[in-house]
Amino acid sequence: MAEGRGKAQADSLRSTQSDTVARKLLPDNTTVEVSSTELHKGETIKVIAGDIIPADGEVIEGVASVDESAITGESAPVLKEPGSDVASSVTGGTRILSDELIIRVTAEPGQTVNIVSLKSRLLIVKREMTKLLNLPGVLVEKIQETEGALILSVKVQKKTGKCPRCGHTSHRLHQNQRHLVRNLPICNREVMLYLNRRRFKCDYCKKPFSESLDFVGYKKNFTHRYAHAVTKQVIHSDVINVAKNNKLTTEDPKNRTISTEFLPTPKLTRLARIGTAGSG
Ligand SMILES: [Zn+2]
Repeated sequence: MAEGRGKAQADSLRSTQSDTVARKLLPDNTTVEVSSTELHKGETIKVIAGDIIPADGEVIEGVASVDESAITGESAPVLKEPGSDVASSVTGGTRILSDELIIRVTAEPGQTVNIVSLKSRLLIVKREMTKLLNLPGVLVEKIQETEGALILSVKVQKKTGKCPRCGHTSHRLHQNQRHLVRNLPICNREVMLYLNRRRFKCDYCKKPFSESLDFVGYKKNFTHRYAHAVTKQVIHSDVINVAKNNKLTTEDPKNRTISTEFLPTPKLTRLARIGTAGSG
């Protein structure tokens, strides 16, 4: 399952960071190999090309390129050198690609204290959430948590839309239209996607159109996956129970919620209601 895979990846990243060998720099400028878990804040370490950087730290000597893709997803190497906030900060778990660096450890093992590493960790969370969401071509950009649900702001990676009238592909963004779409739960939390269904202007017939998305129908406030899951439940249960279990509208569920979920064009006004259904 997607959830298990995401967890395994997070675990493996953590274990990379905790099991790394570190070269601790001694006062006589020699080094001694220790486990990264034995490092302490303020100690000085040396890393050379090919090493996994064993802890968060600040570069105090040397210039080197570092591969931070394990943390940020960015594949281009980043130049590290002493002196500036960003360029001198290194994050445990990243890899030095060239030369060598002398680094002062800025966090006890398992702790994160610098802003760069906090940002990096936020990126990991978004990347993991994107994997758990598992909608091809869709990235999670922001995660908000309310009492009732996780709200994931998502971005569709594709940069173009296909005109439904003439079939031409357009790059020309006309309008952003954000709305909430209900999706399957993740880790037992209800999930709403805050989705931008962009409108493009066709270069050929000059008319605007809304992009079509393969995971949610036009003017629908739930993903195809969600609809399938609810349909399956209805087959094995009954409409009223399913409405209750999914915290769908309780008022007259038979007529309003479940049955209209599967009509071609439910009213857009139900967006708001489904968004707040969890609290009632
Ligand atoms: Zn067109």
